[in-house]
Amino acid sequence: MESARPGVDLSPMSAADQLLSEFWWPTAHAGDALGDSPGGSRVPVRHQSTSWVPLHLSFVEAMRPPWLEEDNALVMMPLADCKDLLGEPLVVGKGSGRQIPLVVHGRHGIAFAFDLGATLEQMLFARAFTERRPLISYLPFHYHRIPPRVRASLGKMLRGTLYSGKRRSAYPQWPIEPSVEVLRWLWYQTRKLEGHREPPVPFWPEGRRYAVVLTHDVDTAQGQENIRRLADLEEAHGLRSCWYVTGRHYVLDYDLLQALLRTGHEIGLHGDTHDSTLAFGSAETIRKRLEACREPVSRLAMKGFRSPYFFRTRTLLREVEQQFMYDSSIPDTGSFLGAGTGCGSVFPLAVGGLQVIPTTVPPDGALLADSWTPEEIIELWLRKIRWIKAVGGVAVVLTHPEPEMSARRDMVDAYGAFLQRLKADQDAWFALPREVARHWRLRGRETSWHATSMS
Ligand SMILES: [Zn+2]
Repeated sequence: MESARPGVDLSPMSAADQLLSEFWWPTAHAGDALGDSPGGSRVPVRHQSTSWVPLHLSFVEAMRPPWLEEDNALVMMPLADCKDLLGEPLVVGKGSGRQIPLVVHGRHGIAFAFDLGATLEQMLFARAFTERRPLISYLPFHYHRIPPRVRASLGKMLRGTLYSGKRRSAYPQWPIEPSVEVLRWLWYQTRKLEGHREPPVPFWPEGRRYAVVLTHDVDTAQGQENIRRLADLEEAHGLRSCWYVTGRHYVLDYDLLQALLRTGHEIGLHGDTHDSTLAFGSAETIRKRLEACREPVSRLAMKGFRSPYFFRTRTLLREVEQQFMYDSSIPDTGSFLGAGTGCGSVFPLAVGGLQVIPTTVPPDGALLADSWTPEEIIELWLRKIRWIKAVGGVAVVLTHPEPEMSARRDMVDAYGAFLQRLKADQDAWFALPREVARHWRLRGRETSWHATSMS
């Protein structure tokens, strides 16, 4: 049986296969429950340091991703052991003076020159976590205690290399990282060329092409006071959003927050004290700190978590999994600390049994601290969202209602104009993060499959 299987090796049902099946639309296989994957099995153990090879890909027409644009066509791949394959090359990678046939039509069908599943897993998880504790997490006080002017230059220093050429080739690339989506596309096209005809399972409901999720991190009491400024704007456009508040950092305004819930918004947890050390504690410490937020979590019906500063470790996410339905602490690329960190994908993914919805639109704070104007920020957001729409992913927007961030008069105006542009798009599914998490989990049931269903 094994030797008769042509082309891409899709069996047995490994963790990597599951990743692929979740993103594309293989045969429905009732009874193969989602979440049954043993906890943590999809997260590979710590990766060896990998050299990421930047490649310009050339495709035969049937394999070309229609959304791959000239200016973001650089694909980064961890190509440790690439096989030499005989046959007609369908996709060729060019880089570092080499030409590597990546996908080949050979005697036994279509084959990848590399282990597709392992490569994809590495792309998703090699940079997904904050492995090294950043210097800023050692600051003995909250960042809001630093005067805004000093904070801005400190931020610039910390991010120094974000937009410089030096890190432009780092994985994941900022602000758009196409590599993961390119691999999935190749896998899907390969199956079509091999004659598989599974009925498609759409990514999103209601025939929408992509999802849009509005979120806010409320870092301080002042931020909480400004919530209505942004909430009013959203409601005026018929939109709702998720507000991640801290559990124990400022006095929560339950009247305000419960009124938000009643009008259809969502409230999530943004750490306990927003002090930047949470992710780096022991499992027990993290558990205790999260449990200490039990009251607001239950009174505000919180289902989701976003870590302060986007600091996230495997230990943190394992603890989050115990108490929440989803997490949104992993960016697809970049955070305020710059490029070279993130899961490289604009689709939800599973970390152990936890649903992760990556934050995929560059957050307001880092851009403002880096002196971007509101107009430039909106332009960048729309550019990123256009790309997310093209690949069919989820656009997760993050703004802070803090006085020096999106509660600034000029940013409020720009946000209003931005919402108006977004709202006009009939292809967008506007949803709360908990709705996206739920939808993706249910969709996973429809798309899970066994190797046996494919022969
Ligand atoms: Zn924050």
